[in-house]
Amino acid sequence: MREVLDIGIMPLELKIYIGILAVIIGLVFGSFLNCAAIRLINEESIIMGRSHCPSCNHTLGTLDLIPILSWIFLNGRCRYCQSKISPKYPISELVSAILVLGVIFKIGLGLILVKWLVFIWILFTISLVDFEAYIIPDSLIILGILNRIVFAFTSSNIKTELMSSLIGGLIMAVPITLIVLLFEKIMNKEAMGGGDLKLFFMVGIYFSWSVNLFILIVSCLLGILFGVIQLRISKFNSDAKIFPFGPAISLGSFIGLMCGKELVNIYLSFIYV
Ligand SMILES: [Zn+2]
Repeated sequence: MREVLDIGIMPLELKIYIGILAVIIGLVFGSFLNCAAIRLINEESIIMGRSHCPSCNHTLGTLDLIPILSWIFLNGRCRYCQSKISPKYPISELVSAILVLGVIFKIGLGLILVKWLVFIWILFTISLVDFEAYIIPDSLIILGILNRIVFAFTSSNIKTELMSSLIGGLIMAVPITLIVLLFEKIMNKEAMGGGDLKLFFMVGIYFSWSVNLFILIVSCLLGILFGVIQLRISKFNSDAKIFPFGPAISLGSFIGLMCGKELVNIYLSFIYV
């Protein structure tokens, strides 16, 4: 169940072919998950109904829904009512393509690839929802946990696999929860949402403790960076105090998946010389 074809050793033509396929899959899923995120925020059904323009409500046709290209050829406007379409759609579709490309080349071709693609798509959707509405839906956290459990059953030692992933989640979530509670007690204000803590747990069940620690540090640094950028953009207005932490944790997790193990090993080799 764990056989993986390494793309690194494949001929160049095959690498290019897989790369193009990865980008197309990434763009299509990026477009779909953008739509899913909007429906999650509006509490609409994700699978029911056709996409429609948020301004004029006109049902969108296939030509309006081609990732990135539709936006470019329609000059970033709705075909029917000419209202502006946010550039965040083509940008996030592009981000999704980069994520999928990265994951496929990192993991290789095999059943295990599905686990990591689902993981990264859940993080992508969480980021879109959190960025827009400052919430992290429990449904996505549960989906992430279920995905991890399902793939634990492909392991030869299911019990150990489930146990170590639970420990990974607790290692990630418990210390940060205690720190947040202490901070809130001292400062008497909310430091981090419950959704962020659940997200830390969900991410934690996918990685070893050392990579989890790496992700925790990177996520917090990214969170501070995003917070500072948002403060500068919003010029210290009243909304500026809250900023979504979900995208920072998601990006930190993606970096952890791509190179966490390698960077931790380099770090450890400096300690144990
Ligand atoms: Zn319209």
